[in-house]
Amino acid sequence: MGFLGQVNWESTCAEAEAHFIRLLQFNTTNPPGNELPAAEYLAEVLRKEGLEPEVFTSAAGRGNMVCRLKGTGEKAPLLLNGHLDVVPVEESQWKYPPFAGTKAEGYIWGRGAVDMKQMVAMSLMTMILAKRGGAKLKRDLIFAAVADEEAGGAFGAGWLVANHPDQLKAEYGLGEMGGFSMSMAGKTFYPVQVAEKGICWVRITATGEPGHGSIPNPESAPIKLARALRKLGHIKLPQHNTPVVETFLKRLSQNQPFPNSLVLKLLLKPSLSSFILEKLFPDPGLAATFWAMLRNTANPTVLRAGEKTNVVPSIAVAEVDGRLLPGQTKESFLAELREIIGPDLQVEVLNELKPTTADPNDPILDQIAKLVDKHDPGAVVVPNMVPGFTDATHYSKLGVKCFGFSPMKLNPEDNFKSLFHGHNERIPVAGFHFGVRLLAELVEVLSS
Ligand SMILES: [Zn+2]
Repeated sequence: MGFLGQVNWESTCAEAEAHFIRLLQFNTTNPPGNELPAAEYLAEVLRKEGLEPEVFTSAAGRGNMVCRLKGTGEKAPLLLNGHLDVVPVEESQWKYPPFAGTKAEGYIWGRGAVDMKQMVAMSLMTMILAKRGGAKLKRDLIFAAVADEEAGGAFGAGWLVANHPDQLKAEYGLGEMGGFSMSMAGKTFYPVQVAEKGICWVRITATGEPGHGSIPNPESAPIKLARALRKLGHIKLPQHNTPVVETFLKRLSQNQPFPNSLVLKLLLKPSLSSFILEKLFPDPGLAATFWAMLRNTANPTVLRAGEKTNVVPSIAVAEVDGRLLPGQTKESFLAELREIIGPDLQVEVLNELKPTTADPNDPILDQIAKLVDKHDPGAVVVPNMVPGFTDATHYSKLGVKCFGFSPMKLNPEDNFKSLFHGHNERIPVAGFHFGVRLLAELVEVLSS
């Protein structure tokens, strides 16, 4: 049975909006995070509704709130996850103060407005509605509002998964990096994140004879390293089509006019994709994103060699940020890297995180698509992969099937990418209300 039968959406959205604005007013810039007051605020609200939230402190000031609404247990639990921390701001660049939660010009402004206090507020409202509705859900509903996502989650989801796994075990998890509307050639899409790339950070070391700077040496450590990095900049790692990206590109292509329809489909052909992305794509930023969806990537970020201008050092070091597609392993990635940089340099792995992926044909996507179509007729849901990682990487260790779906309707002129971590982060008021209702309805369907 559903729990939304009696709901007055106007007053519900106003209530959710008030909590959202309050959440934006907590300065949870990470570092240092200081999410505890926001976590306690949520717990207080939920306690007033008769729920029994718990706040876990992973370190001083780092609060994580978890709340469970018991169901009948016919189905495994559903987890709603939002992080409370936000990335830093350059306050002078903002039109409205970033921690005021200003409502103006049809938007709600503030750091965290789309990443991702909106989802925290929507999840809070869904919990409240489910409790007030009184109906027994077929599954437990778990709401986690966590610290530290922006720095990797060691004090947030990662800490909870390591220390309180039973609190979080679920069949499905709904979280970030999807559910926002995106316009393309007159058509609206809602990407839902089903996969995240993994990481494999490596240190490459070149060695050579040390010497005096007055005597040239084409085999010196800095020159060997520079040659290898130059190759990394020019030679492409091989393309791997993953099920998620295949479905993503095919569905985009089916919903685009010619020539977009053809170009998008041809990206799946390794012999053509480089040419298409380099020569035919109008927007280099978008091309780079597609690029990263089709390949492992290896991006040099840190360089170290030498201390004195007139001394040739014997060691030169580069750190490379490697990102792995779903289905790829550390070994397969290192083999690809070796193929490009050659056999001479030493390679060691600094950090590793496995890629995660859910099934791009999971039935939850059909349920999402039905509701999206109901509230935004004609819009198309596409499974998506993000080149970075989110809290989903932690929850997937517990077997949770994680989907990035924090529904919000943006205006066609808004660009999620530039709002995300950008100056003047904001969400349309109507788009937030859209999300409040859509998330609650989805949870109702999934737990009936
Ligand atoms: Zn985020």
